[in-house]
Amino acid sequence: MREDIEVDVVVAGAGACGVMAALRASENPDVVVAVLEKSMTEGCNAGVSSGSLAAGGTRFQAAAGIEDSAQRHTADILANSGDERHRDLVTALCTVAPDYVHWIADDLGYPMQVGVDMARKGMSVPRLHADPARAGGGPLMTHLRKFLADRPNVALLDEAPVTGLRVEDGTVVGVTASQGSHDLVVQAGVTVVATDGFAGNRALMQEHCAELGDPFHGGVSTATGDSIGWLSPLGAEFRNMSACLRHGQVTLRGTRVNPALPWLGAVLVNRRGERFVDEQAHGYSGLAGVIQAQPDERAVMIWDAEAQQTARHSEMMRESEQAGALLEAPDVAGLAEALRLDPLALALALKPLPGRRALVGPFHYAWLTHGVLTTQGGAAIDTTGRVLRTDGTTIPGLRAGGGAAVGLAGTHSAGYSSGNGLLSAFGMGWIVGDEIAAGVDLRVPTHR
Ligand SMILES: Cc1cc2nc3c(=O)[nH]c(=O)nc-3n(C[C@H](O)[C@H](O)[C@H](O)COP(=O)(O)OP(=O)(O)OC[C@H]3O[C@@H](n4cnc5c(N)ncnc54)[C@H](O)[C@@H]3O)c2cc1C
Repeated sequence: MREDIEVDVVVAGAGACGVMAALRASENPDVVVAVLEKSMTEGCNAGVSSGSLAAGGTRFQAAAGIEDSAQRHTADILANSGDERHRDLVTALCTVAPDYVHWIADDLGYPMQVGVDMARKGMSVPRLHADPARAGGGPLMTHLRKFLADRPNVALLDEAPVTGLRVEDGTVVGVTASQGSHDLVVQAGVTVVATDGFAGNRALMQEHCAELGDPFHGGVSTATGDSIGWLSPLGAEFRNMSACLRHGQVTLRGTRVNPALPWLGAVLVNRRGERFVDEQAHGYSGLAGVIQAQPDERAVMIWDAEAQQTARHSEMMRESEQAGALLEAPDVAGLAEALRLDPLALALALKPLPGRRALVGPFHYAWLTHGVLTTQGGAAIDTTGRVLRTDGTTIPGLRAGGGAAVGLAGTHSAGYSSGNGLLSAFGMGWIVGDEIAAGVDLRVPTHR
């Protein structure tokens, strides 16, 4: 059965970018929004994420005595990515980040604080924001979706995959989708593509990210890069397709350990008992490649009770503990026996690097490998989410953001800064939604 729908805005994907775009657009009660979500079985990547929001210059930071700004945030991201080509995009996203962090906390009532215990490579001051319980992105997305579902001018359709874009005379005028036995034809003034990247698509991963090998995929399976097939025939340009959000602290049970551990003194040792890296020299995305180069693509991370005291306050550590991935040994001899390593060689490997503190037994440890969480390449966009063709022109009627669009890591996964993923998604959702609420690009609605 075919059903025709007419709205002002149709959003493909109810993840971080799509939900934020719809929430902000529907702040204008005259704007009618339809959000189509492929599947809620696993939910979106934002829902399985750690829910850490990077923002520079928030009132939470000010209250904690942290001096930060959008400019500093931008500079940190660019220093890590080296991607000057996207300076304007990074600036635009960093500029709105404090606004949506404040809005989520103050207007939508979601508890938020700055994570002073969340040290990350390349982050010159603490700027990750999360709920005080460190519950991860699941409760945050549930909270945001509830507000969306309650809006009278929003239709939120789950189990409704978008199957393609509708195009008339080069202008995108909506989408086709399906829901159960219904074929949906949605007519819209603005179409927002927020369907994330392609880490769940083996063929596309092989095509663009073959050097990652066959990594554990820690994201949701709906991230199959559907938008690539929709946007390619329209002449869209794709950028940074080989960059990913990788993770070098994935346990063998598929969970992750707290990325702050290296800054709490944790040490990495490979199967040969060698300390092969300065643990603080890489972010977790860059560390993935270093772990991949080790024998069997594995290493063991070792830390002590003092580090555990801080690190345990995270959904990643709770999940790892539940999965049985966190182990303990009373002393170096016990650790060496458990790891089947020479005790003297292990004691040498555990010696602190200059300026670092020495770990003291009893020890905690976890076997780690590398994984990919999301891709960071996608459609080229301008600072307001308009999709760029290879000739530099924009595709009328269309916006894209989050993982469907180019990320902020530059051309390589090591260029990923912690918090970039949700910054791209919430940030562009915010920018696009606000423009729509203000009437930008909305054609005269035909449904009234
Ligand atoms: C384990 C993990 C931890 C992470 N932790 C963090 C973190 O702490 N901080 C951070 O900044 N980033 C983090 N990230 C990255 C972040 O989650 C993503 O970058 C972000 O969610 C991307 O937002 P998005 O809106 O593009 O995609 P998503 O949030 O994944 O939403 C996309 C939605 O589109 C739907 N969809 C796909 N195809 C279709 C279709 N054809 N039709 C309709 N719907 C479709 C999907 O089902 C999904 O619901 C993490 C990622 C993972 C996997």
